[in-house]
Amino acid sequence: MYKYFNNVTKIAKELMVKTVQKGNIVVDATVGNGHDTLLLANLVGGNGKVYGFDIQDSAIENTRLKLVQNHVYERVILIKDSHESMDKYILEKVDFIIFNLGYLPGGNHEINTKAETTIAALEKSLELLKENGLLLVTTYPGHRDGKIEDEYIKKTFSRLDQKKFNILKFEFINQINNPPILYGVEKNN
Ligand code: SAM
Repeated sequence: MYKYFNNVTKIAKELMVKTVQKGNIVVDATVGNGHDTLLLANLVGGNGKVYGFDIQDSAIENTRLKLVQNHVYERVILIKDSHESMDKYILEKVDFIIFNLGYLPGGNHEINTKAETTIAALEKSLELLKENGLLLVTTYPGHRDGKIEDEYIKKTFSRLDQKKFNILKFEFINQINNPPILYGVEKNN
């Protein structure tokens, strides 16, 4: 029997694989080491497009190398800028957006996503999303900034009109140490 409930990253990946189609236009709002960006580049195929954002040179460069090695770099636009500026670079509606918040694993833990800029980026994401598009957000309430960020996100999403958006929160309720939380937002038509 297939197990979905090991961790939220796995659930996010399953949803990504089931949702993203060949030819889609998608956004990785936090490329980090490029795992999600590479998967997205494979899912959208040669006629699709991936926009990827990160504020760190090392994240952009590691991701670029990974994409080149896997022969999919030409379908990805990597942008070294904060995701709250995404509307400066993306001038079309998109099918799918993913945020994996927090800090770069193996990198400087001081450089992490922050509530204020994340909320601004999420508001822009909801605008950029096509009808029937999907937004996935993983938060890390196990560290201080992550807990604050998660609380703001929950508040922001709770206020959205249920006629316009279907929103699910995936949360492990019997695990210690504040495990990661996944939010899934579907835009209605
Ligand atoms: N999805 C990535 C992967 O598959 O490897 C992991 C992402 S990591 C948890 C979070 C990333 O968000 C870090 O690389 C960090 O530099 C980046 N980040 C932090 N603040 C940001 C911002 N304002 N805009 C874009 N990226 C940001």
